[in-house]
Amino acid sequence: MQKGKINVQTENIFPIIKKFLYSDHEIFLRELVSNAVDATQKLRTLASMGEYSGDIGNTRIEVLLDSKKKTLTIRDRGIGMTADEVDRYINQIAFSSAEEFVNKYKGKTEAETTAIIGHFGLGFYSSFMVSDKVEVISRSYKDGSEAVRWECDGSPDYTLEAGVREERGTDIVLHISDESKEFLEEYKILELLKKYCKFLPVEIEFGVEKTKEKVEGEKDKDGNDVYKDVEKPRIINNTHPAWTVKPSEMTDEDYKKFYNELYPYTFEEPLFHIHLNVDYPFNLTGILYFPKVKDKFEIQKNKIQLYSNQVFVTDQVEGIVPDFLTLLHGVIDSPDIPLNVSRSYLQSDPNVKKISSHISKKVADKLEEIFKNDRTSFEQKWNDIKVFIAYGMIADTKFYERAEKFCLFQNTEGKFFTFGEYKELINSNQTDKDKNLVYLYTNNPVEQHSYVEAARQKGYDVLVMDGVLDSHFINTLEPKFEKSKFTRVDGDIVEKLIEKDEKLPSKLTDEQKDLLKPLFEEMVDKTIFHVQFESMSETDQPVIITQSEFMRRYKEMSQLGGGGMGFMGSMPDSYNLVINSNHPLVGRINEEPVEENKKQVIKQLTDLALLSQGLLKGAALTEFIKRSVDLID
Ligand code: ADP
Ligand code: MG
Repeated sequence: MQKGKINVQTENIFPIIKKFLYSDHEIFLRELVSNAVDATQKLRTLASMGEYSGDIGNTRIEVLLDSKKKTLTIRDRGIGMTADEVDRYINQIAFSSAEEFVNKYKGKTEAETTAIIGHFGLGFYSSFMVSDKVEVISRSYKDGSEAVRWECDGSPDYTLEAGVREERGTDIVLHISDESKEFLEEYKILELLKKYCKFLPVEIEFGVEKTKEKVEGEKDKDGNDVYKDVEKPRIINNTHPAWTVKPSEMTDEDYKKFYNELYPYTFEEPLFHIHLNVDYPFNLTGILYFPKVKDKFEIQKNKIQLYSNQVFVTDQVEGIVPDFLTLLHGVIDSPDIPLNVSRSYLQSDPNVKKISSHISKKVADKLEEIFKNDRTSFEQKWNDIKVFIAYGMIADTKFYERAEKFCLFQNTEGKFFTFGEYKELINSNQTDKDKNLVYLYTNNPVEQHSYVEAARQKGYDVLVMDGVLDSHFINTLEPKFEKSKFTRVDGDIVEKLIEKDEKLPSKLTDEQKDLLKPLFEEMVDKTIFHVQFESMSETDQPVIITQSEFMRRYKEMSQLGGGGMGFMGSMPDSYNLVINSNHPLVGRINEEPVEENKKQVIKQLTDLALLSQGLLKGAALTEFIKRSVDLID
């Protein structure tokens, strides 16, 4: 028997390993199982290169729980280790990274330590976070190798001696400490295996599961099949998850099935998927799904899972994939994503950054492809995906440039246009006297119906911009579009929204207007409503209420509260009450000799205008209805 001290320059290494990050203790299981997977895959590689001529046989990895002995064993039938190799890989190499970690840890504050921990993977030594004692019993695949047994009780002393083991491979036996006895619970281990090992490439067996099996050739008295309970080894993982399969070999059905495998409790089907398969400039595979979102902006982040060679790394992907893509679902797998490092470390890793911008590009490419190949189906999905695209275009300039090709506008008739197509459509007549293109839009086609109609009657097209992000989106688009402005359709009278050089003459003189104006002002709150005259056509409404685009956006911004605009929070609304000086009714008011009648018509017209903006409420509304009924009488 060989006794020794683990290459120790640092005393107290184990207490520090035990302290590690408390919440991350559970990763020991992932580390040990992935070591077992590595050892198995190494054996397969050797066999495929003809360097191992024995029978590979069963390579299933077993996780064994013995709550009486308080042990958890990870057993593989991989390449195993000779005594020399245990000495080299466990006593020296594996330890040196753990030791490096401890040396950096010394004399640091807690915040600094957390940052340091992020750079180190403890690998095998993470087992000491949960164990009083660890045994390694191993037998190398090499001909004539003897079994070896290594043991260490969490002090720098270890023993290495001949062991007993018939088969090739390694057992890692953890003697679970009292503080960590949760890891002696079957459900806990099952949960961890499901979390970290669900898609590992080598079968992992843990305990048994009960299923029903059909008894062949037997029927009950009604002639139905007979089933019996059977116990089967419980296999944790799917060794060939969909993202590792060639896209050409996958059907739509397969993609949906995989979606269910990832999210067993989601009933909604995804809209479509993007199968990522990159081998240059780095390796990356994965499947991203566009989920169906309802009208409201359901924020369901952390649905994307990150893997490194089929080992689960994290589902906290903020800062790792572009923010707008955190709304997607699915998996991303890259061997370039480092294992067992902290999230802040992942976020600053240059490989991870490259991966992130690449994913964003791939998503854009795929969307463009769908748009080009099947525009009809793209248009059908548009209302479900536009929130992702708008978010991406607002947040990421590169994505904006790519998405410009397939981003769609929808007008009030329900027709779709690309930016280019729409520009062409309105170019001929929606330019104002300064040659600006005016994009008229409504954020509520029902409430703003009369304004939309007024614009359309003049031959103008109106866009529907009713998405949750659309007011931000407009702010993004406006500066990018040359000589263009966006104006909500109730922002002013149509003649002002798109102001042309030629103007209609007014039928009222300035003196007549001066006499009428105070009569209208009497009917409304002068601090909120600004009364003005405009020469519109006779067929336009006699009185219209508008809210200027500028004032509205200013108020919206102030309500968001950010950016030092807080003081605007109590800003009152401000509207224009526009009188059409060419409307016959306005002409008649002007000529009406009886003051009382004059006032009554003015009141009625003002209320109608308020009503069409949804501004007539409460007592004023009740009074209006009563007055209208009287008028009909
Ligand atoms: P890493 O896996 O990053 O190399 P670890 O600390 O997890 O670091 O493991 C250290 C080394 O110990 C491995 O590289 C491997 O050589 C050896 N080892 C660990 N577990 C096994 C195992 N189950 N079978 C064979 N070798 C193993
Ligand atoms: Mg390892």
